[in-house]
Amino acid sequence: MTENTQLMPAIFIDRDGTLIEEVNFLSRVEDLRIFPFTKPALEAFVAAGFRLFIVTNQSGIGRELFTENDMHDIHEALREAFGGLITGFYYCPHLPNAGCDCRKPNTALIERAASEHNIDLSRSWFIGDKDLDVRTGINAGTKTCLVLTGYGEKHKEILEDQPTLIADNIGEAAREIIALLRG
Ligand SMILES: [Mg+2]
Ligand SMILES: [Zn+2]
Repeated sequence: MTENTQLMPAIFIDRDGTLIEEVNFLSRVEDLRIFPFTKPALEAFVAAGFRLFIVTNQSGIGRELFTENDMHDIHEALREAFGGLITGFYYCPHLPNAGCDCRKPNTALIERAASEHNIDLSRSWFIGDKDLDVRTGINAGTKTCLVLTGYGEKHKEILEDQPTLIADNIGEAAREIIALLRG
């Protein structure tokens, strides 16, 4: 057995506008709205052998609009709603101009998740609703899917890089990605 066979494929998923409704600088659990198709999609991905990671820019922390604890409360609510389907939550708390290496479209969060959880990026996907999410996946060496929820309809028109797939929402993304696995 080669070392490579122990590596798992993953789905890296943007949070706002992809898993949940886009709310500008979401900071309160009571404003959290999970799309009805999200949990079935996550279940299908896990059943197909993918590990799931959330990768999110949360500059509202750097802007002092909300605290890191406010964000953790939201992630805890998501963890409960999804019943352990998500392996890890990775976030960038910095301001856009901070020059960090973790804010999407930089790839430090993906690289950290990949090394902590033995992920094969070449068999993995990045799913998000923005141009920046597509670029993040391309930068990290994953396949990419733009969803048309959140900012997706708008960002479809301004894409600099073409994603592997465009899907109406994460439910359709799951069906199409899993169908590709089966050839
Ligand atoms: Mg988003
Ligand atoms: Zn950062």
